[in-house]
Amino acid sequence: MKLPLPASLRALVLACVLPAAACAQITFTFDYATSEGATTGFNDATLGATRKAALESAASTLAGYFTGYPARTVTIRIEASQTDGTGFLASAGSLYFTTANTFQPGLVASMIQNGTNFGQPYLGTVQWDFGYNWSYGDTVAGGTYDFKAVAMHELTHALGFASVITATGTSQFDNNTWTTFDQFLTDAAGNALINPTTKAYAGGTILTDLAGSDVYFSGANAMAANGGQRVHIYSPAAYLAGSSLSHLDTDYYTSYAYLMEHAVSSGLATRTLSAIELGILTDLGYSVTAVPEPATYAIAAGALALLLAWRRRRATA
Ligand SMILES: [Zn+2]
Repeated sequence: MKLPLPASLRALVLACVLPAAACAQITFTFDYATSEGATTGFNDATLGATRKAALESAASTLAGYFTGYPARTVTIRIEASQTDGTGFLASAGSLYFTTANTFQPGLVASMIQNGTNFGQPYLGTVQWDFGYNWSYGDTVAGGTYDFKAVAMHELTHALGFASVITATGTSQFDNNTWTTFDQFLTDAAGNALINPTTKAYAGGTILTDLAGSDVYFSGANAMAANGGQRVHIYSPAAYLAGSSLSHLDTDYYTSYAYLMEHAVSSGLATRTLSAIELGILTDLGYSVTAVPEPATYAIAAGALALLLAWRRRRATA
């Protein structure tokens, strides 16, 4: 479900090279064996090692934002890669318990924040489409996508930066199980889309009125990082499954400067979490802090922008 944007929407992307994360207390490990093909994708004889190293580098950079945790390991299962070069660049998500009428943090969040994996062999998933042209290092050629930036984006979805509110106001988990992220979604006046008491959908026609750009993240920390204003959440006039409500609003923040926008240009892309995104993660219960200012900046001209995706799965226990 990645959609190329027309050339008229080409964007200049301010990007950077992050210093290596040091002393990360949170470690991501990846299961490349269970679902991924033995000789394909991340296990490709020629490129597999490079792909794994890039994914693990991005995960290490993301882990560098966490602070104050004891050593904890988050296991992510790599799903069978795609090669069609259409649809989403990649997708990822956390497992969630589906308990009726609750907000759920997801198992990745539970592991990082509380150190429990509920006995699950993996806590989230990532699936990649290697049919697109990727650059795996810190030099990202024009016309190729920034693997590390997209990996950070996807893993941030797995942290719980994700909504499960469908176009019709039901939960993708069917029984009014929502994500913690959903708890903070409001309209412009601060009215919650999910009733905090009954957990019933309370957004009325906000997702179907074709107004667009009318959903906000109203967590206190995110707003504090945004000058006291609610944070615009991607909510295009026509609901876009997999993208709507789970990203910063690309239609509002048009510079493509944020990691968690739903689309990314080819070329070097943003590899940092902004203060707003860190505020959202804080509202989701994480202890995070900005990493040191990047040492190197570069400007890359983008040719295309594609949608980023994510996927969530139910926990089996
Ligand atoms: Zn995304």
